[in-house]
Amino acid sequence: MPWDNVPCHPHVSKIITRAIQRGHFGRTSLVFGPPGAGQGGVALAITMTFVCKKAENDFCGTCPECKRIQDGVYPDVIEMHPWEDWSKGKSNEKDKEAPGKRQPRKKKQYSVDHMRAVMEHALHLPYEGDLKFYIIHDAHSMNVHSSNSLLKILEEPHPHTRFILLTDQAAGILPTIRSRCWGIRLLPLEISNLARSLQPGLSEEKAATIARAAGGLPDQASQLMEKDYLDRRDQVFDLLLEIKKRESAVIESAESIAKHANDLEESLPILLRIVRDGVVVASQGDPSHYENQDRKEDLSILWKDASMEKLIGSTKSILAALEDRERFVNPSILMMDLFLQLRESMRG
Ligand SMILES: [Zn+2]
Repeated sequence: MPWDNVPCHPHVSKIITRAIQRGHFGRTSLVFGPPGAGQGGVALAITMTFVCKKAENDFCGTCPECKRIQDGVYPDVIEMHPWEDWSKGKSNEKDKEAPGKRQPRKKKQYSVDHMRAVMEHALHLPYEGDLKFYIIHDAHSMNVHSSNSLLKILEEPHPHTRFILLTDQAAGILPTIRSRCWGIRLLPLEISNLARSLQPGLSEEKAATIARAAGGLPDQASQLMEKDYLDRRDQVFDLLLEIKKRESAVIESAESIAKHANDLEESLPILLRIVRDGVVVASQGDPSHYENQDRKEDLSILWKDASMEKLIGSTKSILAALEDRERFVNPSILMMDLFLQLRESMRG
């Protein structure tokens, strides 16, 4: 059942579960795709399918084993990150550091020590099940030395080990490693499929809005939800509606949006999506193409008289601002300029 809840293409889950059922699932696999495509979720689902006894050729997601895998405390599923300190061997418990104790410096790359510790760790039989899984996050973060150490492990694998490499930069992995892996490619999901996976927490239209803003990428969508994307987006809508009503709102709105650098970073892409919707409104295009599906009425209020030519000009200005945002020493002047242009566009 729960593979249905894993946000990935149905053909991906079918290929994986079929391979597990037939005993063909590779000793080493590489789950790759664009950033935020859900690599980590797919890797955990694979391990749960092997371990869970409650569901046949699937996983239940609720039994003690599935729960412990999700919580990162199942001893035979070992997740690795490049910044972890493996110099004293791998501990199965997460974040054991006492409060106040200095955290190890975050390393950007896996070291040879990591791989030596894995080699050592892999010698021991699994604690509970028949198999031990090593999930290597950011597998592209290996230099030549650590890659070669991993290669040695992969060349002579213990029968009880399975390696699942995850990356959003497959080209950054040595071809000699890649050629040993069974490749599982993740692509952005259809907007409607991703939106469905975000429900029932959200209305259909709000879920579609998040799914579009995330470009069909499930982890990206979760991040947007964590960051209260819709609230922030609503604030930008409110500012634009106010600007449409009165010119004096331009200055206040520019200042309110430019207060924090982070706000600008998040607000410019939001603004771009609202203006793109304006182009659809102005060209009397199909409303199903709106990015902001849940604000159709406000889109019509904002852009029903808009000049398409001016809107396209504004789109270009926003894109230029996004590319050059570090150059703008004074964000409120930048925003004022954009808002004035947009007010002009609204008036046709
Ligand atoms: Zn289970």
